[in-house]
Amino acid sequence: MKQNSTFAEIAAILRAQQRIVVLSHVRPDGDAFGSQLALALSLRELGKEVTLWNEDGMLEKYSFMPGSELLQRPPAEPQTFDLGVALDTAIQSRLGTAFEAARAPRWINIDHHPTNPRYGDFVYIDPTAPATGEILFEFLAAENLPINRDIAENLFVAISTDTGSFQYPNTTARTFEIGAKLLQHGVELGRVSQLLYETYPRRRVELLRELLGTMRFAGGGRVASFSLSMAVAKSLGVLPEDNEGLIDHLRAIEGVIVAVFFEELPEGKVRVSMRSKSEAADVAAICQQFGGGGHNLAAGARVRGSLEEVEQRVMKAICDVIDCHS
Ligand code: 5GP
Ligand code: MN
Repeated sequence: MKQNSTFAEIAAILRAQQRIVVLSHVRPDGDAFGSQLALALSLRELGKEVTLWNEDGMLEKYSFMPGSELLQRPPAEPQTFDLGVALDTAIQSRLGTAFEAARAPRWINIDHHPTNPRYGDFVYIDPTAPATGEILFEFLAAENLPINRDIAENLFVAISTDTGSFQYPNTTARTFEIGAKLLQHGVELGRVSQLLYETYPRRRVELLRELLGTMRFAGGGRVASFSLSMAVAKSLGVLPEDNEGLIDHLRAIEGVIVAVFFEELPEGKVRVSMRSKSEAADVAAICQQFGGGGHNLAAGARVRGSLEEVEQRVMKAICDVIDCHS
């Protein structure tokens, strides 16, 4: 098993290269963009030529993030760089077309997913970190790399979104210390939180109304699920990112241990998103049975089959773990 490189080794490699491409996963979230933008802005301060790609491009809801205009969709024709960096990406294939377009002789892989298979040449995986943004703060601070207000805001978005606003159990005293340091760098907590959590498009709440109409329970109320068909998504005009976080409404119900969201995708696949409230129900392990992965308490997979078939198979796998019949 490949060992973690040290922060000093990773910093030395970054300092030695000029043309650096920085990627994150498809269906990006605040930690993906925040990590990418923070590292990119810091490397630009050092005079590096940094290219930022994500298969999905910048999402409207994150476009307030400093430097968001730097993030592009990957081009069709591959380009060559001195060095590639993958951030917050549990498995290389989740870099999508961005990875296919980026040619680099060496890759750095920095992530916090325990299921990360440690791809790349230089790896830093810390599954105890609640966000890749927290690892990056430690890295930039330890290696005296630039952290300005804009970089701090990107790191704050990364950490705030992946900890559910400093609520999830992987949030530690250190996470709050880092939050405090980011505020000292000038992050405006109220402004950023409002942009993240109180600026939803109305269609997102209309989508929630539809999803709640499909809500079902199993295992005496310990499993809750809802699902979204392509037809409903189309009729509401929702974008893929509109459903991020809606599963939290299921997890928040008293007695629910596992929450599941099924989303019908084109190409005969279903996106399965899972959350757990108990270490005894490891949803990453369940999602791995379906070719996915993630964290013990938050995981996902893309499963071939119709909405109905996938719902049945996944609900059975969950019931095998939490014993729905007892
Ligand atoms: P979400 O449910 O928010 O899409 O994802 C929750 C967690 O599971 C994230 O940490 C994400 O990286 C991981 N995850 C989601 N979908 C997949 C997938 O298809 N494959 C793998 N390996 N991880 C996934
Ligand atoms: Mn993350």
